[in-house]
Parts: sequence; C-alpha cells; structure tokens
Amino acid sequence: MPLPARNAPCPCHSGRKAKACCEPILAGAPAATPEALMRSRYAAYACSHLAHLVRTTAPTSPHRGADPEAWRADLLAFCESTSFDGLEIRATSEEGDHGEVTFFATLTRGGQDVSFGERSRFVRQEGRWTYVDGEPVRR
Ligand SMILES: [Zn+2]
Repeated sequence: MPLPARNAPCPCHSGRKAKACCEPILAGAPAATPEALMRSRYAAYACSHLAHLVRTTAPTSPHRGADPEAWRADLLAFCESTSFDGLEIRATSEEGDHGEVTFFATLTRGGQDVSFGERSRFVRQEGRWTYVDGEPVRR
C-alpha cells in the first residue's frame, strides 16, 4: 500500500512530517478524532491509498460503491487525475460517536480548479472513525 515518506511533509498539508501526522493512520492506527481521520483520508487520496479510503468509509455511507472493483477503479482514477494542493480545516465538532469536520480542499485536475468545501459527517464504530457523507459549503 502506498504510504507517504515518513520524514516528508504530510500530504494533508498540516505542515508536520508525515510520521507525526497521517502516516501512522494510513498504516492502520485508529484516528483519535474526526479531524485526524479526515486529514488521513485527504492524504490517502493524495497518495492513492485506496485501502484506507475503503476501510474508512462507513458501511452505511452512500459513497460506498455497490461494486467493490468498480468503486476502487473510480477512486484510483480520481486520485491519479487530481492534484491535492491544499487543505484548510474550517471547523470541527465531536459528540459521542458522531463528529463533523468542515473543510476546504484545493484541488486541480487537467489544469482546472476543482476545489470544493464540504461539511463532512463521521461516525465512530468499534473505536474507529469512518466517513459517512457530507454537504457542500461555499468557499
Ligand atoms: Zn497529515
């Protein structure tokens, strides 16, 4: 599985080294907070770590592909065609096993700005945060 170099800047743009940020989570450690999980998913998109994206998508999420192979192919095509240029966390909240993270992701694809903002919902199951869904927010 593709992991960022441990001493390189983390692909989630936190400004920290990967080993002190998302790399342990990408390698399988549980994320302590919804924000940490969200950051690790951004990093997973940036380094085409499909297994992390799949395992951190909630079973109930509408974003789970019905056909696992087709879903992975779609994820890979998205990862490889997109440049993950920035991530700004705007707000986070956590209550029990539910959390929300509002972020703005700076992305480019084929020379086009495809950046977007989202308020994402997360749920913790068996000690692990997973992504459920989100709604768009304006830049
Ligand atoms: Zn990170």
